[in-house]
Amino acid sequence: MSNSSGRLIVVSGPTAAGKSTLWRRLVTFPGVRFSVSATTRPPRAGEVDGRDYHFVSAERFATMIDGGELLEHALVHGRHYGTPRRAVEENLAAGFDVVLEIDVQGATQLQDCSLPMVSVFVAPPSIDVLRERLGRRGTEDPVEMERRLSVVAKEMEHARHYHHVVINDDLERMVAEVVQLLGLQTAVEEEE
Ligand code: 5GP
Repeated sequence: MSNSSGRLIVVSGPTAAGKSTLWRRLVTFPGVRFSVSATTRPPRAGEVDGRDYHFVSAERFATMIDGGELLEHALVHGRHYGTPRRAVEENLAAGFDVVLEIDVQGATQLQDCSLPMVSVFVAPPSIDVLRERLGRRGTEDPVEMERRLSVVAKEMEHARHYHHVVINDDLERMVAEVVQLLGLQTAVEEEE
């Protein structure tokens, strides 16, 4: 963390491309915080309200939009998702980089915002690899899985609008690449 204001680190990519593993690793660096989104999607097994998402009703989500509480928001896979503005602004002002794991529509909305931002698109090596990963993850039923896969080609078209595109052919290699691209330093490196 520095005394200057932090950056938005926007991470997007198709379903099961490795985005959540990436952000979980990024927030282990000092000075990096995660933006917990609001969503109307029900929690998955193991997800914790306030840590993974703020799970809210459709009514509450609408109130958040009307009250200008969201930095961006989008309808993804039939559910609403949005970035609470206040937490992001407070963390940026405190000098933290803030990771937003959001879809391509949300990232597009942020392109014109005045906040300092660096965007990373995580791409899978192939659609077959993605299908296999999604199947192995087992968090979606077959219908939901096909629905998610059907939008991948469209999502991939947005990759060129991002500052960086990384291929998740190997998780450790991909994470290391992003850490380097973002110039993140461990606590030990910061002290040196
Ligand atoms: P999941 O339901 O798998 O957690 O997320 C589905 C999609 O919603 C992912 O592409 C994820 O990046 C996106 N998403 C999560 N939070 C937000 C958000 O706050 N805003 C937007 N625009 N997309 C989000």
